[in-house]
Amino acid sequence: MVLVMRSGVSEKELQETIEQLEKWGHKVSVSRGEKQVIIGVIGDKSDLLGKPLTALPGVIKVLEVSAPYKRASREFHPEDTIIEVDGVKIGGGHKVVIAGPCSVDKLENVVYLAKVAKKHGAKMLRGGAYKPRTSPYSFQGHGEEGLKMLYEAKKETGLPIVTELMSIPDIDVVYKYADVIQIGARNMQNFPLLREVGKLDKPVILKNGIASTVKEHLMAAEYIMSEGNDKVILCLRGTRTYETAVRNTLDVTLVPIMQKMTHLPIIVDPSHAAGRREFVSPLAYAGMAVGADGLIIEIHNCPKKALSDGEQALLPRDFAYLMDKIKKLPAWNQKEWYQFDQQKDTDCIEPDFYNSF
Ligand code: PEP
Ligand code: MN
Repeated sequence: MVLVMRSGVSEKELQETIEQLEKWGHKVSVSRGEKQVIIGVIGDKSDLLGKPLTALPGVIKVLEVSAPYKRASREFHPEDTIIEVDGVKIGGGHKVVIAGPCSVDKLENVVYLAKVAKKHGAKMLRGGAYKPRTSPYSFQGHGEEGLKMLYEAKKETGLPIVTELMSIPDIDVVYKYADVIQIGARNMQNFPLLREVGKLDKPVILKNGIASTVKEHLMAAEYIMSEGNDKVILCLRGTRTYETAVRNTLDVTLVPIMQKMTHLPIIVDPSHAAGRREFVSPLAYAGMAVGADGLIIEIHNCPKKALSDGEQALLPRDFAYLMDKIKKLPAWNQKEWYQFDQQKDTDCIEPDFYNSF
């Protein structure tokens, strides 16, 4: 971390700032340029993150040299993390599609949808029993009854269960049935909840927040990892922007950007981004094309009767179509691209007028 001092900073201000940094237990290295003085802070700076650094005398700017999300960052963990759930691997080139209803409604539907998911190549079953709904009058989920239905579907198909945990009091019951715990967009910054799932030994799918930045998403993963659970799968489900034509704006650029920043697997949720059935499949395809480690998709056999998010549920035939396309899609390999890109001569190319190609 580097603290840039105001030009013309006085010796007294400089000393005060250095003393304060030393009081917080840090070693510093001062470098005096012709016009500007900068202070480099050496060693582990995690505890400095919450400190009022720009309020120290003479400091005008603070530059972070290394990522504040130490455990989630690729800087300290260059290899891709591969997470295994009941023999299903995700990350490091292992691609996984998770499918199922938004909320668990009826046993027959969940079992049927699990069979559809499996038949077309999904490796895990999703379904919410505790639902975060904008209105308190909307269906809130069947709770443990819903989890039991998911468990029946798992018994029939062998697909591991992905289900949302909304609050700390539900941890025990959700833990009992879930193979992967989903933390939804509304809870991405529920720090006490993140810390609690960080103490569990089951993988967590962490969705980005309604209007979160990449850094906030990675810091949320850091909360989970800082408690010891490093099995975190990041999920991009779009954010709220100025655009009203879509439910949420999904920026697929974030897939390669985040893959550069973190070693954790990254999946795309095209359903909550698109908000409408007809737009889910192209977004899913885009996510896989840019190199996501997987997808989480809502499907339903009777969307008009679904208890939540029926508008964005793929019908079984749509899901079959999409899975067929995805299977044939050669995955974008970001590592290979970096290797190729690094070999390139970045000098300017002199155009050869007569003999271009
Ligand atoms: C869901 O997966 O059904 C859900 C509520 O998602 P999100 O948290 O992304 O809105
Ligand atoms: Mn949903």
